[in-house]
Amino acid sequence: MTIVLKGGTLIDGTGAAPVRDTAVVVHDGRVDAVTTAGANTWPRDAEVIDVSGKTILPGLIDCHDHMALHGYELARRWNLDEPGSTKSLRTAQAIQQTLGRGYTAVRDAGGLDAGFRLAVEEGLIRGPRLYTAVTIISPIGGIGDRVAPSGHECLVPPDPASPRGVAHGVEDVRNVVRTMVRAGADVIKCATTGGASSRKGHGPKDAAFTLEEMKALVDEAHALGRKVMCHALGGRGLRIALEAGVDSIEHGCYLDEDPELIPMMAEQGIVFVPTLLVYEYHRESKQPHVKARASALQAHHVEAVQRALAAGVKVVAGTDAGGHGHPPNAGELPLLVAAGLTPMQALQAATGWAAECLGVEQEIGTVEKGKLADLVVAAGDPLADLRILADLERISLVIKGGVVEVRR
Ligand SMILES: [Zn+2]
Repeated sequence: MTIVLKGGTLIDGTGAAPVRDTAVVVHDGRVDAVTTAGANTWPRDAEVIDVSGKTILPGLIDCHDHMALHGYELARRWNLDEPGSTKSLRTAQAIQQTLGRGYTAVRDAGGLDAGFRLAVEEGLIRGPRLYTAVTIISPIGGIGDRVAPSGHECLVPPDPASPRGVAHGVEDVRNVVRTMVRAGADVIKCATTGGASSRKGHGPKDAAFTLEEMKALVDEAHALGRKVMCHALGGRGLRIALEAGVDSIEHGCYLDEDPELIPMMAEQGIVFVPTLLVYEYHRESKQPHVKARASALQAHHVEAVQRALAAGVKVVAGTDAGGHGHPPNAGELPLLVAAGLTPMQALQAATGWAAECLGVEQEIGTVEKGKLADLVVAAGDPLADLRILADLERISLVIKGGVVEVRR
């Protein structure tokens, strides 16, 4: 089966300039050729889809999402406010909607069990390629430790598909990493600091884990062939993550405060996933401590992005969606431009660079011969206005692995 997208302007995700009037030939799920629309070298029985006047992009990638989270309220986070079946269907809906927005790959940073990946692979639901961390790993008191403001621990029995992520010391860190991999984790997610929305007393610059614990975590994850994505905002915990050799820094709001950190990232090839969108939400929080933290970090966050770019660190797009609902994932891209990326770099942050962040750049992220045919067609020019990618009406075609998943 051959599909040809004919007449569109191609932005291939490598950072190369747009090419007008192209033909992207898809055969057996992969990109077979990228030529000019007039070349007409495809088989006669090919399905030709006229995308003249539109833009062809690689399927978009969100490097930091929480597909199975649907709010920050305690009862919701602890799965107390509705039956598990209802919650699972809510998650399935979010997964399907995300594909409909042109996102053909999503890395889940905690909360999504591997059964959802299986459901997409089996075709039970439509969805992006899912790469999941299963559960966030942190020590006692870290962001993955479920404790109420009263000090009570969450007593909901753990679901075997979502093992507990609290690790007790160096040896247990290795065991928890192994447990996540056994539960189907594609990537290991840990946290070495608090965050904007974490409990009082464990904020953006409060450390979690020792360097020894983090070294063990990274060593075990790498031994099992998994990358490590680390939630780290600032202070000593941020430095520990980098010294331990994680693969990406999530949030990284205060990377500008210690002049040694960004050069360490550049030297080790550590990717920066700033997740700007979630802090827009937190700056409107009704909780004063959350609002204050999100406001205090804003200028540092922008400075960190600019210094990272200048140092050659890859900056990629992640929404940290879930707690703040599931808004259009492409909402992150204009914010990256406001922080200093060019519009083309913002597109790379959600395509070619994002695939490198996930370690799947051999298969997806760019439109090149031999790659999996994950493609999105948008009405308009995203380089002129990235907001069009967040407009559902303009996402006219979504193809995953050569299969037309959405056509509007
Ligand atoms: Zn997150």
